[in-house]
Amino acid sequence: MEDDSFIIVAAESQHFDDILELLSNYIAQLRPKLWPLNTYIHTHPELAFKERKAHHALTSFLRSHPQWTVKLSAYGLETAWTATYDSGKAGPVVSFNAEMDALPGLGHACGHNLIASASVAAALATQNVMQKLELPGKIVLLGTPGEEGYGGGKIQLLHAGAYKDVDITLISHPGILNNSPMVRTTAFAKLEVEYFGRAAHAARSPWLGINALDALVTAYNAISVLRQQTMPSDVIGLSITNGGSAPNVIHAYASGVCVVRAETASRLAELQRKVESCFHAGAEATGARLEIKVVPGYADHVPNAVLARSYTKYWNSLPDVPEPPTPADGQFTRVAASTDQGNLSHAMPSVNASFAIPPGPQQGQPHSPDFEVSSGTMEAFDRALRVGKALAGVALDVLRIPGLLEEVQEQWRRDMK
Ligand SMILES: [Zn+2]
Ligand SMILES: [Zn+2]
Repeated sequence: MEDDSFIIVAAESQHFDDILELLSNYIAQLRPKLWPLNTYIHTHPELAFKERKAHHALTSFLRSHPQWTVKLSAYGLETAWTATYDSGKAGPVVSFNAEMDALPGLGHACGHNLIASASVAAALATQNVMQKLELPGKIVLLGTPGEEGYGGGKIQLLHAGAYKDVDITLISHPGILNNSPMVRTTAFAKLEVEYFGRAAHAARSPWLGINALDALVTAYNAISVLRQQTMPSDVIGLSITNGGSAPNVIHAYASGVCVVRAETASRLAELQRKVESCFHAGAEATGARLEIKVVPGYADHVPNAVLARSYTKYWNSLPDVPEPPTPADGQFTRVAASTDQGNLSHAMPSVNASFAIPPGPQQGQPHSPDFEVSSGTMEAFDRALRVGKALAGVALDVLRIPGLLEEVQEQWRRDMK
């Protein structure tokens, strides 16, 4: 018994070393072709759902690989695309997401060019090794538009059926702080609030008016009080978008936007209820009529620990392991940001690997001008390729190790409870 398992482990580690080498060699060969593509996307930033140049450049690149079937403007979204590779033999379906969008006024300050490069490298490398080892299964590479600005491109794709047969979904995101496949992001919701009062002369007959701005200010103060009773990971942001008319008029109308963030979807629902009560308090105190429009946000990202273990194994076996180290097995890396990959993680097992790129002189984090410069460097691109190898490793483990997908799914079911 012991001897048998020793032989299996020894055979697996031999296999692992071979795969690592195949992946590294293939991506080294891909590197000179992918670098200009990465630079092109970085220097042609496009806003959410307007990623037309990136859509064209990425799909043209993939079309030059005859084993892949490429679909443009997929699932009714102009800038979404898919590239699929089918081994022709039934097996697991692994998928990678390539984000493409930039930020208003800041270019690629979120480094989505690197996400695209990592996922394209990972998908092509997976296919190359799959073919060499004659593995069964399928790869789906998706160009996912509109992550920024709460557009939720992946949510739209999910609802349109893009992930119908997909078993696992893989993506990465650059930053400057973490190298981790165990990323938990926050859940958020946006509330658009309006108060309707009654106008009156503020000096001559204020008692005839109903002050909508007073209602909003009362709510603002109630929320400020609520903040003392919230959990450390809760965040409530509130801005006044319409603060009434002239000062000598009792304000008939006021509006604001509130963004609520929490660690999990269930905590978000609880916090949102408390915030809504504060808005109702403003209406109650003044007599103004309240309207709240809830704009659904992104769910928290739940990383799959089994897939993450596989990622860490590849990441740490590649030469020159960068700082900082990956977290200990099973430990979460909490990132106070939100992504639509979170919604996918509630629909299927997911990894959203965070990777640190060399920072700029200001140590700027994503969404800063400094990070926009860092995400265009060759050093950052090489980190993305390292991520590509580790993500391909995860996909190949699922495709080749018997019973691993079942283990991944079992973990996902436990996480969803
Ligand atoms: Zn961003
Ligand atoms: Zn981003």
